[in-house]
Amino acid sequence: MTLPIPDTEAITAAVNTAHQAMLQVDGGKNADYIPYLASVPSGLAALAVVTREGTVVEAGDSRFAFAIESISKVATLALIMETIGRDALREKVGSDPTGLPFNSVMALELAQGKPMSPLVNAGAIATASLVEGATADARWDKILDMQSRLAGRPLSLSDEVNQSEQTTNFHNRAIAWLLYSAGTCYSDPMEALDIYTRQCSTLLDTVDLATMGATFANGGVNPKTGERVVSKDNVPPILAEMMMEGLYTFSGDFAYIVGLPGKSGVGGGMLAVAPGKLAIAAFAPPLDEAGNSVRALAGISAVAKSLNLDLFSA
Ligand code: GLN
Repeated sequence: MTLPIPDTEAITAAVNTAHQAMLQVDGGKNADYIPYLASVPSGLAALAVVTREGTVVEAGDSRFAFAIESISKVATLALIMETIGRDALREKVGSDPTGLPFNSVMALELAQGKPMSPLVNAGAIATASLVEGATADARWDKILDMQSRLAGRPLSLSDEVNQSEQTTNFHNRAIAWLLYSAGTCYSDPMEALDIYTRQCSTLLDTVDLATMGATFANGGVNPKTGERVVSKDNVPPILAEMMMEGLYTFSGDFAYIVGLPGKSGVGGGMLAVAPGKLAIAAFAPPLDEAGNSVRALAGISAVAKSLNLDLFSA
């Protein structure tokens, strides 16, 4: 079924108005448990839409490159789903919301070491442990390649972000060892953690992020490059997972308010996908308690509302 895409004038008006609205919203605070993130200017604000046909509409600091952080979990999820299939992934990692913060150890304990979702840290480390390759670098190349193909251009690791994370990721190290002891880390745990940490440390801008989302909105074909990146059958379970756990403890609220599958990262990025139509991406560093960008949420909600994108409205 081919769904009608809102026309470009309507998208442009929605993006410009929503970007102005973002700037009126205050509150939140840059993540500071990763030192690099605390140093990003808090006043940056960007919004972009990319349609399934590849039309780009952008406003604000949309070419500022920021750390992908947790949004990378979607790319690694896609990579592993393509490699081992959706059933094996669901069995090994899970597909349910945890209802707990993204780095919760308690969630892991409550589920006897099953991470539940590839979109929380435990599940993302387990998913990274499933990437095949003879060395950590070979496995990392596959993750970076998937991120790049989704974005439609070669992305790269920021040594600065990676350094900042690798030297402070003690909590995630504990999670990796807990997974390993429960039999749910499928490679050496410190190697899985290393590539997970690298996957969080690539830089992309808001248009790249919207292009990633547009690839899912377009059934797995990147509208910018024309490449099939994800098989058509794997797109719905990826989006379902985003709807269930993409914004951590705010995922239910996001479904209620916006009605679209989404994903956020502690770098301040946020993505929402309107299947068959377009993707909306936003960036602004200050985060709320759950780890979601306050201004990005405002911008994405406003665009989704003015273009009537809520999936649950008839
Ligand atoms: N690299 C971050 C971490 O592992 C990503 C978390 C996030 O964006 N929610 O803690």
